[in-house]
Amino acid sequence: MLAKWGITKHHSKHVLKPREHPKNSPNFSEKNNKEKPLSTADHRIIGQQLDLFSINEQVGVGLVLWHPKGTIIRNQIRDFWEKEHLKNGYQLVCTPHIAREELWKTSGHLNYYKQNMYTLTKDGENYVVKPMNCPFHIQIYKTKPRSYKELPIRYAEWGTVYRYERSGTLHGLMRVRGFTQDDAHIFCTTQQVQNEIHKLLDFTEHLLQKFGFKKYHAILSTRDPTHPEKYMGSEHKWKLAQKALATALNKKQIAYTEVPGEAVFYGPKIDLNILDAANREWQCTTIQFDFNLPKRFNTRYVATDGKQHEAVMIHRALLGAIERFLAILIEHTRGNLPAWLAPTQVTILPISTDYAPYAEKIHNELLANNIRSELDTSTATISYRIRQAETQKIPYMAICGKREAETNKISARKHGAGNIGTMTVKELIQKINEPP
Ligand SMILES: [Zn+2]
Repeated sequence: MLAKWGITKHHSKHVLKPREHPKNSPNFSEKNNKEKPLSTADHRIIGQQLDLFSINEQVGVGLVLWHPKGTIIRNQIRDFWEKEHLKNGYQLVCTPHIAREELWKTSGHLNYYKQNMYTLTKDGENYVVKPMNCPFHIQIYKTKPRSYKELPIRYAEWGTVYRYERSGTLHGLMRVRGFTQDDAHIFCTTQQVQNEIHKLLDFTEHLLQKFGFKKYHAILSTRDPTHPEKYMGSEHKWKLAQKALATALNKKQIAYTEVPGEAVFYGPKIDLNILDAANREWQCTTIQFDFNLPKRFNTRYVATDGKQHEAVMIHRALLGAIERFLAILIEHTRGNLPAWLAPTQVTILPISTDYAPYAEKIHNELLANNIRSELDTSTATISYRIRQAETQKIPYMAICGKREAETNKISARKHGAGNIGTMTVKELIQKINEPP
């Protein structure tokens, strides 16, 4: 298990984890998800059909190459994610991919996580390729003395990390060796804990709903009350943190299963499992308290009493690992991504070459309005080109013929719905930009 001492489990959320399910949770586990992929909805197949990503042995197994179309999807998610984080009181940070061994000694990773870390030596000095972002965020926090007045401080990073996983366990985008977490660390006072957890659950729900995930259930991992000596952090902090997590889940009316003894030694946590269209369950969000790293790094603030207090630290990844999240999303939607995420939002199809100039005018107008438009002037029949656009799962098609050119309109088709009528470019843009 990763989590013996300072590796939070949320950092392993990119894996297909054959976790044992608590009694009350649904019968399907992620292990079953892996064993029985829906063949037509397998993200590896869709990813190839839509030219989103590839993985090859020359680069290295478990290392993903994102193609132009896949990169658009990633960037769309990142842009949305960053904007929402700024609105929600986070500050964005950016940290290096490697750091001196010294840092990982202090954090404890070097002792307990070494077999999963990539290391290198230069000029006699040892470096570690980061398996997680937390120590960096702590270092930013510690660049100056902090007062309670500044808290909570919330650092968020779309942080790419590398962890060695046995090659036999790798699986498409679900389990990889290099991945990007939608990571953040919150530093706050004990008085702020409850409010922070409420905010976190609201924020999580907001983000997940944007991607069409509306059903989930949570696992609340608490400590084993019969063995308090196994855990780090004061009785007071554990009680406070566990109560904050449970209260927030109850308030949001999120169904959850509490599993005493499931918490790692340094703090309780919530894992939120989402249910996809095939009713499969995927671990996604993790909100994890950490009473260990603030001690190891002496992460403090000056409180109202004028004295130094240890900050409460919360790790959280809401989407988890982006690679894995995209695999889930691709399988959930079978590649039919909503218009805001689709690499190509609309393809323009002139009925014949006579209408190519008009089609190009429409195409340019859409590009000027930040619509990801594609112009298909190939000489194949219109029905063939429509089928092609359907296969590529492009959300909209704009067909341009004589009638459309004369009225300065287009005939629109929507993926999966067929013809949705003639309209102006402005109306088409409105449709494309409609929230999902
Ligand atoms: Zn962390």
